[in-house]
Amino acid sequence: MDISSQLLQWYRSNRRDFPWRTTKNPYKIWLSEIILQQTRTSQGLDYYLKFTDTFPKIEHLASAKETRVLKLWQGLGYYSRARNLHATAQYVQDELQGIFPKSYEDLIKLKGIGPYTAAAISSICFKEVKAAVDGNVYRVLSRIFDIDTAINSTEGIKIFQKLADELICKKEPGDYNQALMDLGATTCKPKNPLCDVCPLQSKCLAKKLRIVEQRPVKTKKHKVKNRFLNYYCVEHHAQFYMKKRTENDIWKNLYDFPLSEADCAKEDFNQVELKALEKIIGENTFTLEKARRYQHKLTHQKLHINVYHLKSKNEIKKGHFIKVNPREAMEFPVPKPIEKFFKELFNGLDFER
Ligand code: SF4
Repeated sequence: MDISSQLLQWYRSNRRDFPWRTTKNPYKIWLSEIILQQTRTSQGLDYYLKFTDTFPKIEHLASAKETRVLKLWQGLGYYSRARNLHATAQYVQDELQGIFPKSYEDLIKLKGIGPYTAAAISSICFKEVKAAVDGNVYRVLSRIFDIDTAINSTEGIKIFQKLADELICKKEPGDYNQALMDLGATTCKPKNPLCDVCPLQSKCLAKKLRIVEQRPVKTKKHKVKNRFLNYYCVEHHAQFYMKKRTENDIWKNLYDFPLSEADCAKEDFNQVELKALEKIIGENTFTLEKARRYQHKLTHQKLHINVYHLKSKNEIKKGHFIKVNPREAMEFPVPKPIEKFFKELFNGLDFER
């Protein structure tokens, strides 16, 4: 039996049940694929349910405010995915009369849809013969065929795509793609793969050569940059000053506080921070209520964050800040460290009333 037949046979009795596996609706498949990028399935499931509940059809997502979309996405990270999701929904609704493109070639033209997502949607929903190559697929193929070309090199990307295109089942491309992903996620795992129950064990070169743990090969990651952020959560008469992040930087279009960035870690709120704050919001009299320190890791950045809760004597006039009460503050999409800070700061407040 060839690899794709063996894989499909295994898939019929081992496939994982997810809500997106009960539909061929391209809108829902697209949502699931974007949410599941860089995300564990268990975490992605909650977000998929939230999104399909709130926006059951593409027109609902297209007509939503971006702030609402980002708020729903909060905690999932890689916020460009949410911004692109929203922009693409609007494009499909306005320019394509709400009809999702059906072919790989048209799907890949949409914002936020790359080769993997276009292949997944076109094969699952429209049976187009396109191999979807994600991290799971790289791992499985590199092991079965003992390929030592780095999966994150230009050459590696080409080699694996070509191999995947040759192997794909032409009759059931969608199931085949999902089968390979499932095998990678449940059996051919990064650590301690379950080779003894793997349907492809007799064909697997890495198993035969006992080098499973050495596949796939990956080139070294970029150096991680440390950043030191000082946030000033300024309160005046139970209201807080916030602003939208509009620069091309992390967390674009989320909301945060007055911010200064330092070259190195700071121990306490002192004259240096006070001067930095006054530069942003003008002179004032402050009392420091609370200080919290967080570390937050992104793909290429490690953030060292101080959040200072300061009560100011006077209204803030300088800078383009919005003044919000705790309930309004909680409605904004905010970065994870600020979400944590709010949870502590507003702990005990009843927002239901
Ligand atoms: S035999 Fe082991 S290493 Fe090879 S594909 Fe199966 S699970 Fe992966």
